[in-house]
Amino acid sequence: MFLNQLYNHRKTLSFRLTLWYALIFTLTSLLALSIFYYRISRITMENTDDELMEEFYEFAGIMDHEGRGELMAEFELEILEEAEESVFFRLISPDGEILKSSDMKDFSGVTVSVDALAALQNNKEYVIETISLPGHEYSVQAIYGTISPDIIFNMGMSLEDNYEYLSTFRNLIFMLMIPLFFIAAFIGWFLARHALKGVEEVTQTAIEISKGAIDKRVEVKRRLFEIDRLANTFNGMLDRIQSLIKGMREMNDNVAHDLRSPLTRIRGIAEMTLMGKESIEDYNEMAASTIEECDKLIEIINTMMDITETEAGVSPFKSEKLDIVELILSACELFDPIAKEKEVQLVTVLPDRLFLQGDKSKLQRLITNLLENAIKYNRHGGTVTISVNTDNHHVNIRVEDTGLGIAEEELSHIFERFYRCDRSRSLAGIGLGLSLAKAIAKAFNGDIRVQSVLDQGSSFQVILPA
Ligand code: ADP
Repeated sequence: MFLNQLYNHRKTLSFRLTLWYALIFTLTSLLALSIFYYRISRITMENTDDELMEEFYEFAGIMDHEGRGELMAEFELEILEEAEESVFFRLISPDGEILKSSDMKDFSGVTVSVDALAALQNNKEYVIETISLPGHEYSVQAIYGTISPDIIFNMGMSLEDNYEYLSTFRNLIFMLMIPLFFIAAFIGWFLARHALKGVEEVTQTAIEISKGAIDKRVEVKRRLFEIDRLANTFNGMLDRIQSLIKGMREMNDNVAHDLRSPLTRIRGIAEMTLMGKESIEDYNEMAASTIEECDKLIEIINTMMDITETEAGVSPFKSEKLDIVELILSACELFDPIAKEKEVQLVTVLPDRLFLQGDKSKLQRLITNLLENAIKYNRHGGTVTISVNTDNHHVNIRVEDTGLGIAEEELSHIFERFYRCDRSRSLAGIGLGLSLAKAIAKAFNGDIRVQSVLDQGSSFQVILPA
């Protein structure tokens, strides 16, 4: 049952993190304990060597201070005292003859080391050797030391105690590894759960949203930085999706409402012409009106698409170096005939050049929309002034006219789709130009502001980051 659950969880991130944490923790602990074990084994061996050297110096001291007779007596005594211990003592002549020896029955096979005697001949004070005895489980540590020109002290100790002590220590380390692995796994599991709790909450929210709770958001609780960042990004994405859905709904409503009128008009014209059975001129007129209404429909659909794409950021937004002054001058040139027809004077207050980074055709569209409105909603003989100025952070494009002006209560609505002020309904237009201009300004990370006084004129200010 437990194993089944474990198997099912094998591909989860928390399982992997737990496993990795447990493995790394256990292996690191094993490495640290191994280094510790190595140090302990070295110290144990050094202690044995120290013990051997201590005995050697003791006998050398007796020989120096009290003479050969006392040395032999002390040697006999030592043999008796240490009879029960796993040690042996021998006195050897420089050519290897054993002068005196303790009972060697536990150390059968220990011969006199020719190498050690040779080293002593070469003026070495003492030599320590580790001897492995065939048939014996444990090695022997032995010292050879010159205590007088004709006597060499030789003592050996079985390393059995050392080995047993170290083997107990080794077993303890391996036994420790098992609980250590499980403790590490538990800590790893706890940490992974804690870290992934936020991810789980994001997933839960996503599940609830997919079931229809579109207003649901992940709570940002000042947890781990990455998790809060994920929650914030996820919430931001949801806000964006929600506003796109809202935009699409609005567009559906607008399309349903505003496309119906031209279509109804087309149908009405066709119906009247058919019922009247009029002349060829009437049919021509019907065709002309139909084309006009169709053009309006196409313009509405295209502008709606442009607004939606610009707002959603799906239409490619180029980043090119553009000269605003050049752009404004060519827009003025384009609208000059219309302005002349209405006797509107176009005035420009521009620097020589002013460069900006962005999408040229989109900014062109923004400026022409404002310029077209300033001429269209102007009075005969009026003026339109386009000026540009810049500070370190912003570029301000101002389009001012001396026309109809906009009533205060209508100012907040003019950027809405299809909104047209009462006094301008008689003039041609579809009410989408300013919505598109605003969407473009936002795409530039800028904005449009308006000030207006009825019957005196309006001033539209486009603020773009420099
Ligand atoms: P359209 O001009 O096609 O009607 P717009 O979105 O460009 O659509 O403008 C929306 C409305 O804002 C216009 O119908 C008009 O009533 C008002 N408006 C825009 N520009 C001006 C202006 N310069 N002067 C007076 N009214 C304006």
